[in-house]
Order: sequence, then C-alpha cells, then structure tokens
Amino acid sequence: MTTLHNLGFPRIGARRELKRALESYWSGAIDQTALLETGRILRQCHWQVQAEAGIEWLPVGDFSWYDQVLDLSLLLGVIPERFKGERAEADLDTYFRMARGRAPSGEPAPACEMTKWFDTNYHYIVPEFIAGQDFQLSSDKLFDEVEEAIRLGYRPKPVLLGPLSYLWLGKVKGEAFNKLDLIERILPAYGLILTKLKALGVQWVQLDEPILALDLPNDWRQAFESVYTRLQVKGLNKLLAVYFGPLKDNLNLACNLPVDGLHIDAVRGADELNTVLSWLSSYKVLSVGIIDGRNIWRADPDALFETLRPIKERLGERLWLAPSCSLLHVPVDLEQEDRLNGEIRQWLAFARQKLDELSLLKQMLDQGPDSCGEALAAARLAVESRRGSERIHKAEVKQRCAGITPEMARRGAPFATRKRAQAYLNLPLFPTTTIGSFPQTDEIRRVRRQFRQGELGASEYQRAMEREIDLVIEKQERIGLDVLVHGEPERNDMVEYFGELLDGFAFSQYGWVQSYGSRCVKPPIIYGDVSRPAPMTVSWSRYAQSRTKKPMKGMLTGPVTILNWSFVRDDQPRAETCRQLALALRDEVCDLERAGINIIQIDEAALREGLPLRKGDWQHYLEWAIEAFRLTASGVDDKTQIHTHMCYSEFNDIMDAIAAMDADVITIETSRSDMELLAAFEHFDYPNDIGPGVYDIHSPNVPSVESITALLYKALEHIPADRLWVNPDCGLKTRGWPEVEKALANMVCAAIFLRTDAA
Ligand code: GLN
Ligand code: ZN
Repeated sequence: MTTLHNLGFPRIGARRELKRALESYWSGAIDQTALLETGRILRQCHWQVQAEAGIEWLPVGDFSWYDQVLDLSLLLGVIPERFKGERAEADLDTYFRMARGRAPSGEPAPACEMTKWFDTNYHYIVPEFIAGQDFQLSSDKLFDEVEEAIRLGYRPKPVLLGPLSYLWLGKVKGEAFNKLDLIERILPAYGLILTKLKALGVQWVQLDEPILALDLPNDWRQAFESVYTRLQVKGLNKLLAVYFGPLKDNLNLACNLPVDGLHIDAVRGADELNTVLSWLSSYKVLSVGIIDGRNIWRADPDALFETLRPIKERLGERLWLAPSCSLLHVPVDLEQEDRLNGEIRQWLAFARQKLDELSLLKQMLDQGPDSCGEALAAARLAVESRRGSERIHKAEVKQRCAGITPEMARRGAPFATRKRAQAYLNLPLFPTTTIGSFPQTDEIRRVRRQFRQGELGASEYQRAMEREIDLVIEKQERIGLDVLVHGEPERNDMVEYFGELLDGFAFSQYGWVQSYGSRCVKPPIIYGDVSRPAPMTVSWSRYAQSRTKKPMKGMLTGPVTILNWSFVRDDQPRAETCRQLALALRDEVCDLERAGINIIQIDEAALREGLPLRKGDWQHYLEWAIEAFRLTASGVDDKTQIHTHMCYSEFNDIMDAIAAMDADVITIETSRSDMELLAAFEHFDYPNDIGPGVYDIHSPNVPSVESITALLYKALEHIPADRLWVNPDCGLKTRGWPEVEKALANMVCAAIFLRTDAA
C-alpha cells in the first residue's frame, strides 16, 4: 500500500476564522478562552478533513497563532530580553508581543523582524540570536497538540523546522558571531523535544530543512551529516523534508543523511526523481511531493501516474505521497467558490482538493486506474477541458506576442537626451512627489463597497471618487508638492484592480492565503491569455490632470508585480504570461500619454521578491522580468517621463538589472535602513534619477524636517543633486491624514531647505 501524508494544512480557516478570532482577541472583544477554543476547533476540523481524504500521517504543529517559526522560537526559548516579563514561562501574550511589538509593560517595543519565507508570499518572524544564546524548552504547545491529536484518534506526525534551517533563518543581534556555532547549544534542546515526542507515542517526526534547496556555504552543508547523526532517538523515525526547489548540489548529501525518510519537491525538482531513486539507501522511505503545493491547478492524474508507477514498482511500501510543500500557500477549499465560472472552476484544486488528488493517485497505484471510476473520469475531463479551452487561448494575443521586437523594449533616445527633452516639465531641483496612494478612509471604502454591491450607480460612484481626487489635489497643492498623484481611491489593491479589468483573470471569493499573522491576501488567478479590453486608469488620470496645472503622475502596477502576486497558469512559461501582461500595460501607458499625462509611474513593488532561490537562476529571471518592464514602458515619446517604484530595497546584488530597466526616475525604500542601501551606489554608478525614500511610511511617526534633511545630505554623498528626488518610501494608503499632511509638509520643507542651500 502507498502511504499518504501531508506537510501542513492552511491554518487560517476556510472562512478566515482564525483571522477574526485573533483580531477580536487583540482588540479585547473576546477573551483568551474563546481564542483558544477557535484554535482547537480549527485543528480538529483540519485533521478531520485530512483523515477523511485518506491521509494517514497527520501534520501536527502546522497550526500556529501567528507563525510557525515564532512557535519554534518559543518552544526553544529564543525570546529577546525586551519581551521577557517577570514570569519565566512564555505565554501566548509574550508570543503576540514579539510579533506585534509591545513590551510586557504595554509600552511599544520594536517588534521582531518579519521577512519572506523563501520565495513565497508568506512572512515569518525572524529569530534573534545573541552571543551565547540559551535554548531552553519554554512552551508546551507542540506537545499539547500532539496529545490532542492522539486523543482524537489520529496518528500525529509532528512537524518541526530542523535545527540548521532554523539557525539559518535567524539573525544575529549585538556582538557578531557565526550562527552556525550555536549548533552545539541548540542540539540538546532538539534532542529533548524528540525524546518528549517519542514518550507521547509519536512514531514519525517531520524535520523540515528547506535550506537544502538553496545555495549553501560549505560549512553549513558539512554540518548536516554530524547534526543528523547526533539527532537520534531510538524508536522515533525522522522524515527529512526539503521543498521549494530541486536539491541540486545538495542532492547527494540529502540522500545520505542518517534519517528514516526523505521528502522531496517532485514538482520543482521533478528532474531529480531518478537520481534520488538510485542514491537513496534501500531502507529509507521516499516521500514524493507530487502535487503542487504552490499553485492551484488541478493535476493531470494520468501523467502523474506514469511518473509514479515505476517508482512504486521499485519502492513498494516505502513510497509515500504528499503535496510538494505545506499547503499553507494555497487557499483552503474550492467547494465554497460558487461564483467562479464553472468551466474555470473545474481546472482548479485548493488544499482540500489537493488531498483528494493524492487519494486518487494512491488508488491508481494500489488498485489500478480501472478501479477509480468517477473520480478519475472527472479529473480526466477537467484536464481535457483546460487543454483545449477557447477561454484560455486567444490567437490575437499570441500573434502579438510573437511579433515583439527588441526595439519595442527600447526607449527612443538614451537617458541624457530624454532628460533634456523632459526639461519642459519645469521641475525644481530636488523635485518632491509621493508614491501614489493617499489614505484610504472609511468613507472611500464604503463608497467602493456600495458601488460593488450595486447600491450606488456608476455616475454617483464616479462623482464620489472625483470628489476624493479633488481633495487630494487640493491638499498636495497646499503642501507644495511638485509632481502630484490622483491618490488611487478607486483601487482596493494594486494588483486586483488591474486583474479585474484585464481578460485572462479570474477571482475567487474565499481564496485567501496567509501573508503574515492575521493578514491574508487573495491572489488573482491568471488562467488564460491576457489582454486589455479597454483603458483602465485613463479617465481617472485625465480627470485629475484637468484639475491642476502641476504635472499629474499616472499610476500603474507593472507586469512583473502583477505576475508575482497572482496564481499564474502553469501551461506556459511564466515569462510568456509576463510578456502578455506587458503588452496590455504598454497600451495603457500609451493611452495615458495620449490623454496628456506626461509622467507615468509603473510600480514594480514585487520585482525583487520574485528572484529565484538559487543564484544560478537569477539571470534568466531578471532578463525576462526587466524585458517585460521595458516593453511596458517603451511605447512613449522621449518627452514622457517614466517612473518606477520598488519596495524591498536590497538591490545591491541586482543593481545592474535595476539600471537596465532604464526608468527615468526610480523611487525606492531606504529610510528604515538610514540610507544604508546607498552604499551600493559607491560601487555602481546608477545612471538615472533616483528618489530614495526619506521617511518610513510603515510607522505613524511624523519625521522632522531635520531628520529628512539629514537623510537627504546622506543621499547627496552618493547621488548628484540634479538627479535626486524627494519622496516617502512607499504609498500612503494605510496611514491617516493628519500624520500624512504633517510628514509631507516637513518633507517639502526639507527639499526647499536643500534648494536654498544649493543655490
Ligand atoms: N502606487 C502604490 C501605492 O502608492 C505602490 C504600493 C507599493 O509599492 N506597495 O500604494
Ligand atoms: Zn512600495
């Protein structure tokens, strides 16, 4: 028989029950007992769903109140001093204080840092290690949940991040030292955890070491062998799980570690299956992560069966099947999507459906495809329907894509010439601008909701939005900004807004995926060839420009960001889908120009975060991503000024790609790092205009004129005065008006001060 297991189930709940409970608890609307009860019900329900699908080994420890890495920090007692209360034990409130930034006294304290979990859109809480870090078991959560699962009659397989990945993902605070040196100190704690689990009756434990899918320095690679040799508890089986990519140079290492089973990502690492088979010791279980845990497309059962059949013949009972990674990264249940188009819906599989796909594969392997009846027939039908659907394939789009020439991705003249051509814009030295959005007030959200629900007619809606645009223009003029924006009141989200207006996109109702803590995103689904039936932003921008003499900046989300924040079709290369997006957006850019918009910003907030995990794959990604941006931007005259904006500012290693985008102006986040980022400019002469963010919009604090001036002087050490812009580091939609007005006024003051100083 083939064994089914799962690496992790989404914890947020099919209707975001966990989000609601958390936020109610934080606001004081419910007490801790009620919160704990919600968690208990969710765990029970998720185990039941998995067991019903035939999953034998159920993940335990995948449930988390905020983040599984933070759970582990608490379990290991890795709690920074500033969060420690009088009592020694780490309770749930300590945990939330670490995530959300509060000292035990209730005073604000810097929250633990949060960063992206590998190349997903999930964010984990970064462990903080100090020299001589102690590791003391400090939480019972994992053990309690194991007991809970056993009480319910399930076979638990606790899931833990392995010691090397845990150390790798943390950061050193205070005095510098090599994190790897902590291995001696952390291993006894892991040993204790495993011993306790064994004592509870656990037979298998899953140790995740996703860093084996990265380029690792030699000392880290070498540490694996000895760490796993020492992590032995008699009678307790260890499944080492690697996901998010192929093993490549770590393949031999992973196959030979002294563990009882190996899980591999057979979606992204499909090419390695055969090598793994021949290198894996004959006593080990191989868990083949055959169902894509990172995307939402229904699998082709016949193709997967062909892949698995020879493996089954070879491994027999030692073959386990699972999704490629934890299902945390896909929505919970397609069943509740009754508004999705029926044809598109049958092409999809969310977490629950993915478990059913596993179950079908198991039956095909154990009893033969002929035994599978309706389930297999339905899956085949869906695969067939997607293959040939006219809904997906549009001849005009494909033709246009095939006709892309290199010239189309090149501006007419080089930057210096364009800069002269743009002098008519009459901007002062150190021009001031913002990144696009202004506070999204309750009133704006209400109007949008009413319009959506049909309670408000189109013309009333339009008038309400125009009033909002008038308001932000008036405020910007009063503050004295040089390049204005319309404020984006009509946009719920910078990707969803465009997705809804483009062909080839579908939207789920409940397709939420956890981003961090209680925050979820609902990525659009790009199922088919992308095209633009009609202009998307032109009327708003045209209206806004008609209300002011100052230049009004048009505002678009770029192709790479739309791609990176969506579930993308898997039946053609991502680069191809990105080119289709670029062509659609290029038309929008040209239409904006025709409508008299002389400055257009194409946001690429997520370009950096789309970088592949392995450096060797970077160049290919950057090539097509940058090309797509340029394709979007290059349909306009030299006189039109193209801006771009990026959020995460770790550009040092991709500086030449950023420069190759050839935007006339780039605005980036730098304020939190005190312009540290600009050090990169010492080694790289960024050729075009640049606006390093001069204040952090993620905080409600109003920056002083002095602090902004100081940052600008710092920036001037690296950027010539005639190429320096002055702007906040991101959009202002999450902020309130009072602080925004003060902050921007101070920012403009600082720019004026610099101008006088320069004169
Ligand atoms: N133009 C967008 C805004 O201001 C950019 C947001 C972002 O970079 N995340 O909201
Ligand atoms: Zn941003």
